[in-house]
Amino acid sequence: MRKKIVAGNWKMNKSMEEALILASEVVHMVKDEVNSDVQVIIAPPALYLTTLQKHTEAVANMGIAAQNCSNKASGAYTGEISASMLKSIGATHVILGHSERRQYFNESNEVLAEKVNIVLENDLTPIFCCGETLEQRQAEGFFEFVASQLTDSLFHLSAEEFGKVVIAYEPIWAIGTGLTASSQQAQDMHAFLRGHLATKYGQEVADNTSILYGGSCNEKNAQELFACPDVDGGLIGGASLKSREFTNIAKSF
Ligand code: PEP
Repeated sequence: MRKKIVAGNWKMNKSMEEALILASEVVHMVKDEVNSDVQVIIAPPALYLTTLQKHTEAVANMGIAAQNCSNKASGAYTGEISASMLKSIGATHVILGHSERRQYFNESNEVLAEKVNIVLENDLTPIFCCGETLEQRQAEGFFEFVASQLTDSLFHLSAEEFGKVVIAYEPIWAIGTGLTASSQQAQDMHAFLRGHLATKYGQEVADNTSILYGGSCNEKNAQELFACPDVDGGLIGGASLKSREFTNIAKSF
């Protein structure tokens, strides 16, 4: 059975004081209100991970993610943070290949494949993002484009390694725009991607892979999106910055 997951990507927001308030509110609400079979992950700025991990570790169904990590193991890479450092402070997940990283920091499928490897080597769970632009959606071939992001960055993995990966489908036209994919659009892409995974890893591995939807998901539309048979939860941006709304999303299964 694949996991239901709701992950909050805080991006580059919040002071330390604000982050502490948001995290402790989320931790309390998740503990009291969210079904224990839903895994709730927060992804604060890296600077706050060590402190906030002390809060999330107290709740069995919570995890804490970095928003990125280096593709190198260690050494002279000024400004970078390695997967082993993240592991050493108790991080559980790493978001990889977010469209903002691909767009503003030129992250290629090849670099992302290296990051996936190093994250798995350090026993962390990659949340691997994929998704098409508006132009691609309006043209032919966008299903195949998104599938190729998975092929190019993940299909070198063994079935055992791949079994540890979480996928997040995030149509770029829906991120931070208020435009959400309809539940039918999300379901169609998720089912297509699961079929693509099955061609490489077999139906059982594909069926056990959590595929999250991301893109203007909020407390109003989460229930309809999460009711789709191939949508296993959400990667939440803007709405993860409000503890009540984020918790309500995690309660939407
Ligand atoms: C995201 O950036 O991962 C995201 C889904 O953002 P938002 O929910 O704000 O669209």
